Amino acid sequence: MNKLSKRAWLTMVLALVLLGGLVVILVQYGVNASKWAAYRSVALADTPDYGGDKYTILDRSGVFLMEKDQGRTYSDDPALRKAMLHVLGDNRLQIQRVILEEYSDDLMGYDRFSGSFAAGNKEGQMQLTLSARVQAAAQDALEGKKGVVGVYNYRTGEILCMVSSPNYDPTDPPAIDEEAPEFEAVFVNRFTGASYIPGSVFKIVTAAAALEEIGDIESRSFLCQGQLEVDGERIVCNGVHGEVDLQEALCRSCNVAFAQIALELGADTLTDYAKRLGICDSLSFDGYDTRKGNIDLKDAGHQSIAWAGIGQYNDLINPCQFMTLMGAIANGGIAAEPYLVQQVTYDDSIRYEAKPGNTYRLLPEAAADRLAEMMHYAVVNNYGEWYFSGLYAGAKSGTAEQGEGDNDALFAGFAQDPDYPLAFIVIVEGGGAGSSTCTPILKQVLDSCVVELDS
Ligand SMILES: [Zn+2]
Repeated sequence: MNKLSKRAWLTMVLALVLLGGLVVILVQYGVNASKWAAYRSVALADTPDYGGDKYTILDRSGVFLMEKDQGRTYSDDPALRKAMLHVLGDNRLQIQRVILEEYSDDLMGYDRFSGSFAAGNKEGQMQLTLSARVQAAAQDALEGKKGVVGVYNYRTGEILCMVSSPNYDPTDPPAIDEEAPEFEAVFVNRFTGASYIPGSVFKIVTAAAALEEIGDIESRSFLCQGQLEVDGERIVCNGVHGEVDLQEALCRSCNVAFAQIALELGADTLTDYAKRLGICDSLSFDGYDTRKGNIDLKDAGHQSIAWAGIGQYNDLINPCQFMTLMGAIANGGIAAEPYLVQQVTYDDSIRYEAKPGNTYRLLPEAAADRLAEMMHYAVVNNYGEWYFSGLYAGAKSGTAEQGEGDNDALFAGFAQDPDYPLAFIVIVEGGGAGSSTCTPILKQVLDSCVVELDS
């Protein structure tokens, strides 16, 4: 090859490298342009003094939640303002305003080509899947107790309710002492960002594993005399249940039966099922990444395995993920993934529209259907159908023992009704017994869900 053609080749290669680099930059610009430009300062400059953006946030039925113009204007309803705090944040910027940051480009009319935000009197609008009515009902029902209420439609993924408490009125923010018990983790959205010791709601996981892995589990019976000794330590039950089968054991929440089942399954199988059911996964939607739950039985002895099977030891669940699992049990093993933002428009043109998707298969259809039947049996024979607003429901309670302080009360389940395909979770920190504390709260929330979906 002579000198000239070598140079031509070299030039060609250099030109190709330059072209490749240009393509990379253009693609990255298309994806990230707003973040390189004025984005952060505008999105976070959402303070009373800043007038650069104008938008309105509405609930699923068009009920007014918040407007941002020269400053923020909130709903007239104090319960609704408090219930929405962890979604919308306040002016102090200590609560992460996840959806406003995630969709700020769309909401404020960002133009990719000019690299600027639109000016003038045009307005952004965001419609949420949340129901103002259900949010306010959950806030009232909690009566200031710390905890979480979550409800979603497991067929569509729409979250109707996500209330995290403690909260406060953003129009009249209190002086917050983060050391004070009443403000414990007040800036955290517990529904997405917290994990809890599940207590007996975790028996659903153990039961799912047993249905799949122990062939004759449904024809077995377990003898509960109120306690079980495992390696010299007593596991105490909440009663003396006598002979119980799996369904009765779940209905009565029998620790003795579930400790034996957990030991028979063993550490690896129990861990495997907790993971398959998504306990250790993070759900991602609308800018949220939910906190992962936990099960860790590495080097665990028999006692620890038994305790893990009844929802203690180092088990942890995230409320949003566990609610989604309830949806999957009601829906044959797969549920819609939850989401919060339905649509974002700017100047009346649609900039974002939710595209719902499904979870992976969390459990086989037969196991999901059987678990759903057993959880319905518990509603009829233990919790009381009266609490479920006339819906065909299944549920499981939990009372999670803390190292110190009062037990947390948990309650999770679903309605299997074609018009109200709802999965729910209620958690009251320090609330004591799961069902007696949570079912009256759930009833108020489900009643308002039915009114909302009928309207
Ligand atoms: Zn028992």
